[in-house]
Amino acid sequence: MEKQFLMGNQAIGLGAIRAGVRVVAGYPGTPSTEILETIAKNNPGDVYVEWSVNEKAALEVAAGAAYAGARTLVTMKQVGLNVASDPLMSLAYVGVKGGMVIAVADDPGPISSQTEQDTRHFAQFSKLPVFDPCSPEEAYEMIVDAFAYSEKYHTPVLFRPTTRVCHGCASIQVDGERQDHDPEGFVKDSSRWVIFPRLSFQNHKMIEGRNPRIGEDFSSYRFNELTGSGKRGIATGGVSYEYTREVLGELTPKLLKVATPHPFPEKLALEFLDGLDEVLVIEELDPVIERELTYLCGKHHLNVTIRGKLTGDIPPAGENTVESVREAVSRFLELPYEAPELPELPSMPIRPPVLCAGCPHRASFYAVKQAMKGKKAVFSGDIGCYTLGNAQPLDMVDTCLCMGADVTMAQGLHRVEPDAVNFSFIGDSTFFASGITGVVNAVYNQTDIVLIVLDNSTTAMTGHQPHPGTGITMMGDVSQKISIPTVLEAIGVKHVATVDPLDLKAAIEAVKEAAGIKGVSAVIFKSPCIAVTKPAGLFSVDEGKCIGCQKCIRELGCPATTMEGKKAFIEPSLCYGCSICAQVCPVGAIGGDQK
Ligand code: SF4
Ligand code: SF4
Repeated sequence: MEKQFLMGNQAIGLGAIRAGVRVVAGYPGTPSTEILETIAKNNPGDVYVEWSVNEKAALEVAAGAAYAGARTLVTMKQVGLNVASDPLMSLAYVGVKGGMVIAVADDPGPISSQTEQDTRHFAQFSKLPVFDPCSPEEAYEMIVDAFAYSEKYHTPVLFRPTTRVCHGCASIQVDGERQDHDPEGFVKDSSRWVIFPRLSFQNHKMIEGRNPRIGEDFSSYRFNELTGSGKRGIATGGVSYEYTREVLGELTPKLLKVATPHPFPEKLALEFLDGLDEVLVIEELDPVIERELTYLCGKHHLNVTIRGKLTGDIPPAGENTVESVREAVSRFLELPYEAPELPELPSMPIRPPVLCAGCPHRASFYAVKQAMKGKKAVFSGDIGCYTLGNAQPLDMVDTCLCMGADVTMAQGLHRVEPDAVNFSFIGDSTFFASGITGVVNAVYNQTDIVLIVLDNSTTAMTGHQPHPGTGITMMGDVSQKISIPTVLEAIGVKHVATVDPLDLKAAIEAVKEAAGIKGVSAVIFKSPCIAVTKPAGLFSVDEGKCIGCQKCIRELGCPATTMEGKKAFIEPSLCYGCSICAQVCPVGAIGGDQK
């Protein structure tokens, strides 16, 4: 045993190793990414770890290993579970042999996601148990329990930390001893592993009988807790429990901590409700615990008022904070509350998120913009760093919905306005994750779209994970690089051009040519992410030549360029030497190590 200062995601990863996990698959996504990376980094030697091509593939890889009796872990962020929901729903019916934990990190706020969806609903929808840790320390212990419950009930279980648990840090007693779980191997049994309507019907009945038993079991689960006394009670779960404890200090109202929101620990909750007049439910995202308690009051004819998000006592969206909980608890317990006086902050310049200085995506967007000047064109974007192409002055992302949707939405847009040129911008990692089927759809249905693949040879936004186009796996093996042009040509895309976007003239010409072709045409802008390459050299402005027209600033928006008086200036600590500003300047005032 030794104490280590760990981030929540590291604690979850080390906890899974301690539980004897043997196969780990996932798809990167904030705030979940470091769970899998921690396991890869601390691999005791017998754990297979992979970044799968997407969350659906990850869940299916893990399901196969769990059928063969291995303890398996899947990692993803909350929107990833939408992608993996097809196998998830069926797997919930079929069940598993080896313990299988599906770690899905929720993102209240949201801080880095498209939605504020609540994975506890997915647990109810799929009828799977869910564990909801309140802190990194608890997550370290709880993931071991999650594997045990999975095996006890032969079902995959969900494990749902939120951002503050994933990215918060704590000193944790780490147990070097590992549980031994040698997989038995796959035992053929088509009546168990092949899903047919008859099996689904039988297993559905079995699940409806089993889940109340799990709920009963959860009533005595070590991390579900009931403390305190009085006529007013507080129910909470996840990180909100920690905030509530901090706010309550020495106060001891009746307090219910729900660590397993589904199946709901009804017996424990009834003990909590017994003798209460009023309850305040403090939770993030949706009113899951609140609805369960309201239902229980109705079912058991309890005259208890339940307050929370549904009654407007807790904000319906966004994160809770210690201060927001303090305000709600003070109101509920009729305690004096004074909003803290916050020091007046000095006015700061507004810094909207922008593409990095020197990012090749800036050049790609600029090239398309120049090529389409004066033409009717719609630009569908996707999820990744390049969503930032929507910012001024580029303004090159007209739609963004979810992973892969740029390719297919462009097709729908084109059906309504065939006189427009419809572009879809997709990153290399997203192309493999969920773009290929969209291209097949376009070729098959003979739609005119221009596919722009922004290939920077990494999964940049989540921290530079490898993907099928990089030729490196998470186990550190060199594998076959899957070539995007070869995939596109094999699908039937007739025109595929690969260009360096930092060669602006060639890039603009390539886009013009692709835009004039009927059917699906593709331009692959290939240039590595500047965060994993060395700067190409510094560029600077020759003050004598600069005429102060600001074209370099107004058209590109590179954070390294600014005006000093009447002349442009390049901040040397930011410039990456991409050379685009030099190619844009009308009087050749910018120079440096030209590419
Ligand atoms: S060369 Fe110009 S556009 Fe490129 S990073 Fe430097 S200042 Fe920015
Ligand atoms: S584009 Fe050239 S001339 Fe115009 S401000 Fe920038 S450096 Fe000066």
